[in-house]
Amino acid sequence: MTAQPPQVITIDGPAGAGKSTLARALARRLVWSYLDTGALYRALALACLDKGLDPGDQAAAEALAARLKLTVRPTPEGTVILVDGEDVTDRLRSPEVSRAASVVSAWPGVRAALLGLQRALGEQGRVVAEGRDMGTVVFPSAGLKFFLSASPEARARRRHLELLEQGVAGSRESVLADIMARDEADSTRAVAPLKPPPDAVAIDSTNIDVEAVLNVMIKAFRNRFFAQDEPD
Ligand code: C5P
Repeated sequence: MTAQPPQVITIDGPAGAGKSTLARALARRLVWSYLDTGALYRALALACLDKGLDPGDQAAAEALAARLKLTVRPTPEGTVILVDGEDVTDRLRSPEVSRAASVVSAWPGVRAALLGLQRALGEQGRVVAEGRDMGTVVFPSAGLKFFLSASPEARARRRHLELLEQGVAGSRESVLADIMARDEADSTRAVAPLKPPPDAVAIDSTNIDVEAVLNVMIKAFRNRFFAQDEPD
């Protein structure tokens, strides 16, 4: 007998490991939704910056998280985010917002404020959720979990190209420095630090491309839920 297919698949990992690309590709293949939880922290960070608040001011960030109205629409293509009714999706990817997101996400009150929203989205079912604590904290009983990593250099190279495509200027060295700083902050914070869930399938994508990682994921899905063992 095979297990029931899961309602949530989680993908965790450090910045630039390819989580968004893979979560989107996997969701598309399964015809599920894709939930980018980093976008929630980014939306809060953007709201902080827009209001002239310091993301490092715990009380201000937590108060804002408690009162901000975030509307989230997971789609197979991406996660659309409205803050107090305004669509901010296109403003979330700048290096400034990345840094501020890493700062606000360390505050316990911020994480608590966003937890219920993430779980409610997961309850809609058939969701590929990506972030830092999907398999450890938000969806600990998810039926299938992945932890995606790659060397810091490979991640910086990919993120740099992505930013250039979006018209965001910056050197690869500064992207690498940003990534390392965010990894350090995300892995060492007291609440919900980035770490591999013990029951996750670990994939190192340093030397393999998106298609190869996607194949590993699809195979893990089939093996676990449909017992269709496939040869390598
Ligand atoms: O994944 P992304 O780079 O968009 O995430 C931005 C920041 O949001 C991360 O550096 C991390 O600090 C935070 N984050 C988090 N927990 C998640 C997703 C993102 O703390 N589940």
